[in-house]
Amino acid sequence: MLIIKLADGSRNNHTGLDLFFYIYSMNKIEHIGIAVKDLEAANQVYAALLGVAHYKTETVESEGVNTSFFKAGPNKIELLEATNPESTIAKFIAKKGEGVHHIAFAVSDIHSEIARLKTAGFVVLNPIPKKGADNKLVAFLHPKATNGVLIELCQEIEA
Ligand code: ZN
Repeated sequence: MLIIKLADGSRNNHTGLDLFFYIYSMNKIEHIGIAVKDLEAANQVYAALLGVAHYKTETVESEGVNTSFFKAGPNKIELLEATNPESTIAKFIAKKGEGVHHIAFAVSDIHSEIARLKTAGFVVLNPIPKKGADNKLVAFLHPKATNGVLIELCQEIEA
């Protein structure tokens, strides 16, 4: 039996299986999202940087973004360009300029993660996960509770 301290300061006894899910609730960084003004131009920059071309592009109409994806070894970079002035990416760039927009974590069960994070005091921007790019269900955490970093949770949609 292992005892771990929870975020609220309480202690709980966990079975091995509980602990497995506790530790691996955020499985890995799935990708880093970068806001860019011009996707074509940025694709060239990142292809030169990483030594490989992007492997796919995708438009997510609901989010007002065109995206492209790169692989750097096991890691992924998502470039995001606004498709309209109301897009969150357009607003982000107007406020902060181009740059790192979010960090996305892969999760196994996005619904339980959302519940866990809400309980822990994080602000979930969309408590009902939505369809994002790259065949993922996604939810975002408000940066005000994560030291200024927009956090994305993403779960692969089963085929
Ligand atoms: Zn993303």
